[in-house]
Amino acid sequence: MSDEIYLDASATEPVSSGVIEAMTPFLADAFGNPASVHQPGRTAARALAAAREAFAAGLGGKSGDVVFTSGGTESDNLAIKGIAMARMKRMGLCPAFHAGDETDGYQSGDGGSHGVGEDGQDAESRRPRIVISAVEHPAVSQAADWLGRWFGFEVVRVPVDRQAHIDLEALEDELAGRKGERTTLVSVMLANNEVGTIEPVSQIVEIAHAHHVPVHVDAVQAAGRIPIRFRDWDIDALAVSGHKFATPKGLGALMLRNRVPIEPLISGGGQEHGLRSGTQNVAGAVALAVAIGEANERMRDEWDAMVASRNKLIDAVRRVVPAAELTGDPEARLPGHASFVFPGVTGEALLVDLDAHGISCSSGSACAMGRHEVPPTLMAMGFDEDAAKSALRMSFARPLTGDQIDRVAYALEGSYTRLTQR
Ligand code: PLP
Repeated sequence: MSDEIYLDASATEPVSSGVIEAMTPFLADAFGNPASVHQPGRTAARALAAAREAFAAGLGGKSGDVVFTSGGTESDNLAIKGIAMARMKRMGLCPAFHAGDETDGYQSGDGGSHGVGEDGQDAESRRPRIVISAVEHPAVSQAADWLGRWFGFEVVRVPVDRQAHIDLEALEDELAGRKGERTTLVSVMLANNEVGTIEPVSQIVEIAHAHHVPVHVDAVQAAGRIPIRFRDWDIDALAVSGHKFATPKGLGALMLRNRVPIEPLISGGGQEHGLRSGTQNVAGAVALAVAIGEANERMRDEWDAMVASRNKLIDAVRRVVPAAELTGDPEARLPGHASFVFPGVTGEALLVDLDAHGISCSSGSACAMGRHEVPPTLMAMGFDEDAAKSALRMSFARPLTGDQIDRVAYALEGSYTRLTQR
C-alpha cells in the first residue's frame, strides 16, 4: 500500500540503492577471499582496505581502529566481554566464583566450592567491576550480566533522570577510590533506542579516564543519525550496526583504540587484527563504508528538515492526544525520534491499531524478539509500570512531509479514541 508510513527506522531501514550498487560486484565478480594471495584475493583485499579506510573516516577514526563484525550485538559483546576480561587479568583482579549459586547435579571430590574469591574481605577488594548505565540495550546489559554470572563481576548500573540522562555525579562516585581501581570498563550508549536521548559521552569519557577506566560506547542508534567523532571524543571502543543506516542486516563494526587490552571472543584464522576471526565479508564492508558516507551526507543536507519534522510530529501528537507525554530529552535527542507515553492504553494495543491503519511504529524496544515486557528504560527513568507499558516510539530516517504528519496525527487520534472508549 503506497500510503503506508514507516515510523520504525530505529528498528531497521531498507538497504539504499547506492549501497546495493556498490556491494553487488563483490558478491559474484570480485568474489575472492581477501586472505588469498592470488589476483582475485588481492582484488578483494584492496576493496576491504579501501572500505575500512572510508568507513573509519565516516566515524572520525582511522582504518586500524575498525573491527568488522556481524552487527551491534556482536560488537557490544566483543567490547564488554573482551575488554573486561583482558583488563581483569592485567589488573590482577580475581574472578569471584560463588559455588553453590547454581547446581547441575554433578558433584566431584568433596563437592566444595572451587577457585578464588573465598577469602572474604580480601576477595571482595579484588573483585572485578563493570559500570554501565541503567538504560542500556540488552546487548550491553546482558553481556555485563554474563560477566557477573561467569566471573563474579560486580555489575553497577548508574541511574538516570526522568529524561534518561546518565547521572554524572553517581558515575563519578562509582569510580572513586578503590571502586575505580577494580573497574575494568564503563559502557554507556550515545543515543537511547527507546527515548532518543543523547548522552554526554565526552563528559563521561573525561570522568572515566580521570580514574584510568576505558569507555565503550554503544552508538548503534546514533551512527548515521548524528555526527560521531571517535578519536576526537577520545572513546576507547564504539559499536555500530549497519542496518540502522541502510546496509543489509548482520553487518557492523567495533571501533577500537589499540591502547585498550582486549581478548577476542571468536578464535580462528586471526582476521581483523586477530580480534574477529573468520573470512571477512568484503561486500558487507563495502556496504558499511558506502552507507555511512551516504548517511553523513544526508545528515548535512537534511538535518534541519529532520529536526523540524520531528518537532512538528511531536506537536501534532500532543494536539490530538493532549494527555500524551513526550519521553526523553525534548532537545538533546535523535533528530528522527519521537517517543511518548499514552495514559490509559498500552503501547502494544496502540501499535496494533495504528498498524491496521498503515502506520508502523514500535512499542518499547524493537530488539526484544517480540517479547512484551515492561520497557526497563522507562522504569529506570522513574515512570510507573502502567506508563512504561503505554510507550510508543515513532522514528524515521528521512524528513516527514506535512501530509504524512497530518495522516499520522489523524490515525493516532482515531486509535487512541477507540482504545480509550472501549
Ligand atoms: N544497541 C542498541 C542501542 C540498539 O538499539 C540495538 C538494536 O536495536 C543493538 C544494540 C543491537 O543491534 P543489532 O540488533 O543490530 O545487533
